[in-house]
Amino acid sequence: MAETVHSPWLTYTSMISLLTLCPPFVILLWYTMVHADGSILQTFEYLRQNGIDGLKTIWPMPTPIAWKIIACFGAFEAFLQLALPGKRFEGPISPAGNVPVYKANGLQAYAVTLLTYLGLWWFGIIDPSIVYDHLGEIYSALVFGSFVFCIFLYLKGHIAPSSTDSGSSGNPIIDFYWGMELYPRIGKYFDIKVFTNCRFGMMSWAVLAVTYCIKQYEMNGKVSDSMLVNTALMLVYITKFFWWESGYWCTMDIAHDRAGFYICWGCLVWVPSIYTSPGMYLVNHPVQLGTPLAVLILLSGLLCIYINYDCDRQRQEFRRTNGKCKIWGKAPSKIVASYRTTKGETKTSLLLTSGWWGLARHFHYVPEISAAFFWTVPALFNHFLPYFYVIFLTILLFDRAKRDDDRCSSKYGKYWKMYCDKVRYRVIPGIY
Ligand code: NDP
Repeated sequence: MAETVHSPWLTYTSMISLLTLCPPFVILLWYTMVHADGSILQTFEYLRQNGIDGLKTIWPMPTPIAWKIIACFGAFEAFLQLALPGKRFEGPISPAGNVPVYKANGLQAYAVTLLTYLGLWWFGIIDPSIVYDHLGEIYSALVFGSFVFCIFLYLKGHIAPSSTDSGSSGNPIIDFYWGMELYPRIGKYFDIKVFTNCRFGMMSWAVLAVTYCIKQYEMNGKVSDSMLVNTALMLVYITKFFWWESGYWCTMDIAHDRAGFYICWGCLVWVPSIYTSPGMYLVNHPVQLGTPLAVLILLSGLLCIYINYDCDRQRQEFRRTNGKCKIWGKAPSKIVASYRTTKGETKTSLLLTSGWWGLARHFHYVPEISAAFFWTVPALFNHFLPYFYVIFLTILLFDRAKRDDDRCSSKYGKYWKMYCDKVRYRVIPGIY
């Protein structure tokens, strides 16, 4: 059975709360951004006056057009995932000792998707506004459809697991929430987590960012500089993601978190709605920043995205070369850590203790959160809601740092303690 570490605060009760609270939150966020001027107070007042009936009234039902948009997008991405050429990539060895093999064609799929979308718009075949105009119905369809998809994952994990990296905790709610399988596949080649996390979730983020820009252009005849900065930073971040997609296959999301509601529903619903929300807000709030401020925000955001990329690159280059690389111009300092797999074999791994990984054990989360701040701040400070993603991300990543520390501590034991003694701070050097 694949290893699972549950965050201590994510108790059984909080799992149920997240399962039930997330879907209405997605719809309320969309409603507030699009129909309540981005004002939480306005939505709150509406709900206070109208209660549950009010929520039912504003909840858009999934329509055939919404299902069609989702089905076309999903089918196109699944086709690209299977059909586009790409180098063979071996993921990290799993807890059960398997080595998952992938086809690294994410950047090609990303380029083909954006070019096709922009081409269809340019030649008047599809108007991206249709996506924005049906956004509520699309989110509603995603909320329900992804829930059904997670039930499919749960059943597949029980009936037809793809590999030995699977198993039940004995509690059906935990199995549904955290997932049963680490690398579920359809056939030999179609990796479900690559589809949900990368080709649907991250790709929809890029497509929606472009959609918001085009919608603002169609509404106002021009695109505000705030929207341009927001879209440019998000697209640079997503381009970086697909550039480095095979690196992502070595991270916690893919190598440790199993395919369940937590990660798959999150990528299928939370990413297209919450992650894109600063752009969604800007569509009908076209703030004009002026060139100096716009350029300052853009450059600050680019710097953060670069540092975040460089942290990930440093760790992967260090592992790939077995520590025989330069970190900030010098030979890296490291800990040679041994651990036992679930099969009882002893293996060794290297822990980098210099460069970014010598500043704090999860320093890479600082530029990640800062980048999100910089693509949100073009909205300025009239409303709180555009900042929801930054706040959510901060909580997610601080919890993740704790989860990762716990997992590494149980994996590496005394070697992880040596790392903690040498690099004392978890995320922010000198503070935490
Ligand atoms: P990673 O999986 O990339 O890094 C943590 C893992 O790296 C550990 O589990 C451990 O794995 C290994 N490791 C830990 N310390 C060291 C060290 N000193 N030297 C070498 N290896 C080490 O982290 P994440 O998946 O959290 O992050 C990957 C990227 O994704 C980041 O850029 C992050 O900001 C981003 N991210 C974005 C999110 C978003 O929602 N926007 C959410 C989460 C991440 P092992 O078992 O191999 O030793």
